Amino acid sequence: MQDSNPRRRVRSPSGYPGYPNRPCLPEMPPLLEEGGRIGRFMARSLPCVPMGCSACCRETTMPLTKAEASLLARRTGLSVEDFTWRNNDILTLLNNEETRACVFLLTSSSDVSADGMCSVYEVRPQGCRTYPNVLNHEDKAILDEGCPHRHRFPEPSDDDAVVLLNLEERLLHEE
Ligand code: SF4
Repeated sequence: MQDSNPRRRVRSPSGYPGYPNRPCLPEMPPLLEEGGRIGRFMARSLPCVPMGCSACCRETTMPLTKAEASLLARRTGLSVEDFTWRNNDILTLLNNEETRACVFLLTSSSDVSADGMCSVYEVRPQGCRTYPNVLNHEDKAILDEGCPHRHRFPEPSDDDAVVLLNLEERLLHEE
């Protein structure tokens, strides 16, 4: 289900509905060739990866900046229109009609608990990287209740809130 309010992408309770945390396997896509080693290190450090969780990439309403969309288009060879839609004029990742997951999630199932791997892990949008951190109504960063493994992540700091506020500003005000 797509959220009609773009401000909520970085805010609780709907927050970023999924912020994907699962990287591609090294043998999968060429996108891992650059920075792959760093990517694998990051992957090991994310609590959700060993759990095989891709819940945050399903029925996503993840927003992305134009620069992030351009980078994804260059790296995948797709047109921006192939993987985004405009949610109140903010670019937002599309879901696959069959799996109801982000079009970049490698999965064959629409089950929220099914395995899935991000095919663009190295160039995923910042919102994907910062999840499950989201902003509450007081502009404080908190762990999104929608993340089933949130208790395994460190409590967000004031710096994390600044990162999300800056992202929200860019998303809301870019031309
Ligand atoms: S870009 Fe990758 S991490 Fe972000 S929602 Fe899509 S599959 Fe998940």
